Amino acid sequence: MLNIILFGAPGAGKGTQSDYLVERYHLNHISTGDLLRKEIADQTELGKRIKSIMDSGSLVSDDIVVEMIDKAIANDTQGILFDGFPRNVAQAEVLDQLLEKHGRKLTCMISLDVPREELIRRMLERAKISGRSDDNEETIKNRLKEYENKTLPVAAYYEKKGQHIKVNGFGDIKAISDNIVAEIEKRK
Ligand code: AMP
Repeated sequence: MLNIILFGAPGAGKGTQSDYLVERYHLNHISTGDLLRKEIADQTELGKRIKSIMDSGSLVSDDIVVEMIDKAIANDTQGILFDGFPRNVAQAEVLDQLLEKHGRKLTCMISLDVPREELIRRMLERAKISGRSDDNEETIKNRLKEYENKTLPVAAYYEKKGQHIKVNGFGDIKAISDNIVAEIEKRK
């Protein structure tokens, strides 16, 4: 069973590539960002607590996302594509424990490599149509700062374990998918 992390900065194209991979490999798409946005849209107690944090572009607390991921793994029968998780080293460590607890192994962690200027360009472009309250210039800056400070060390974490695969995420969307698929095929 495949268990893949799709990793990258905000604007790296994780959403687009996730859609493709999920269809190709029949995976369960677990996006913590989508799950959190749904809590806000449904105006749940949790949603009310996290709205201002997400609007600022900062990360929500680990406990919240870890519980979501634990449930998602427990309920999954077809393999998972993790999108937007793990977002810091503590989450990566917990994911190792959760996968072990559920008798699973990580296939690999694919990181989409995109130059910073291109990330900002894409995010500003998306902001015009996304309707997301965290897609504005000030929040985008904070999201990139959170990424650089907290999330980037996750790549080194998987690098040490020999599970980190860097794929160029700049250019033709189909060519990027092809490169990702070639890497997955080597490891599945
Ligand atoms: P995303 O859709 O992945 O860009 O996530 C949007 C926002 O959701 C982030 O800016 C965070 O506030 C929150 N978020 C998503 N995933 C996580 C996570 N794994 N840990 C903490 N916060 C998260």
